[in-house]
Amino acid sequence: MPSGNTFQINGQDLPFQEGMTILDAARMHNIFIPTMCHLPGAPPTGACRLCVVEVQGARNLAASCVTPAQRDMQINTESPRVVNSRRLNLQLLLAMGEHDCLLCPSSGQCVLQDLAYRYQINPKRFTPRGVLHRTEAVNPFILRDFSKCVLCGRCVQACCDIQVNNAISHAYRGIKSKIAAAGDRPLKESDCVFCGECMQACPVGSIIPVDSRQSPRIWETHKVKTTCGYCGVGCQMYLHHRDGVLYRVEGDIQSPPNYGSLCVKGRFGFGFVNSSSRLQTPLIRENGNLRPTGWEEALDLVHERLENIRMSHGPDALGLFASARTTNEDSYVAQKFARAVLGTNNIDHCARL
Ligand code: SF4
Ligand code: SF4
Repeated sequence: MPSGNTFQINGQDLPFQEGMTILDAARMHNIFIPTMCHLPGAPPTGACRLCVVEVQGARNLAASCVTPAQRDMQINTESPRVVNSRRLNLQLLLAMGEHDCLLCPSSGQCVLQDLAYRYQINPKRFTPRGVLHRTEAVNPFILRDFSKCVLCGRCVQACCDIQVNNAISHAYRGIKSKIAAAGDRPLKESDCVFCGECMQACPVGSIIPVDSRQSPRIWETHKVKTTCGYCGVGCQMYLHHRDGVLYRVEGDIQSPPNYGSLCVKGRFGFGFVNSSSRLQTPLIRENGNLRPTGWEEALDLVHERLENIRMSHGPDALGLFASARTTNEDSYVAQKFARAVLGTNNIDHCARL
């Protein structure tokens, strides 16, 4: 075996770095280990037990997300014992609720569905425990379907460790366990700011956009990467669209500055894109009424009015607001226009509008 920090996974000698868990090291070498509860950026909890691996010499299977990688370990990630354990856990998770993939809006983007297929699970091995908590459909933006929840805890970590909003936590005990806001009230009556971080973290279909049952399935949409236009942070996101209609926004977990996080506007504030009341042309106000026109006439009118003010009252009678929604290049052009064309230094930036 080579010297330094190396261990063996599935018979292969591989290096790892000090402080890594077995899961970190396996992922660094593109070795698949399934997880449901592991949320990058938050402390590992070892809750779902799907990431168990067999470590030679150890009595029990080890949860790879919380077990430090150690020199000379010999690890098997898919031994018959490991696979049997995962299959049992998956069957128990499937019995926790109503996992009806035929009607679930998250079909095609569900970790439980993918793993059930990968490990060829018999979904009927255990009698489902039934639905104990009613769907919470009263919130703007987010619907919570507790019949799909597997209590992995990722939403709680997303809310408390990543966004630090502390709006939700684990509530009740045993079979009645659920993820709840304070007092088990709806999210809209809690500290929730509807950032949707919990929704993006949920590996199943338990937290979904309110209108997702009217949206196409994930494989029916295309996704395109873009920069959020709402403020100057520049969050990276994917737009899911079909036939020119925008259905969903997803934070890009790989890219700075947001690494998947978004605020309520970036994640849910896209209804204007396909709104039928969206302005399609410039409007000129005449005798109290707005008349649609073309850009040429509108710009000529603006030019004429600005020129009149400048001639009558001087250039400092004019001012220009740029916007945080525009790019650096647009802001540069705006200040050039104010200074070089209008002849004034009255140029400012309106932070959120
Ligand atoms: S939407 Fe944001 S604030 Fe609300 S529960 Fe989810 S993560 Fe917490
Ligand atoms: S709602 Fe989703 S993320 Fe939260 S505990 Fe349930 S399955 Fe996990």
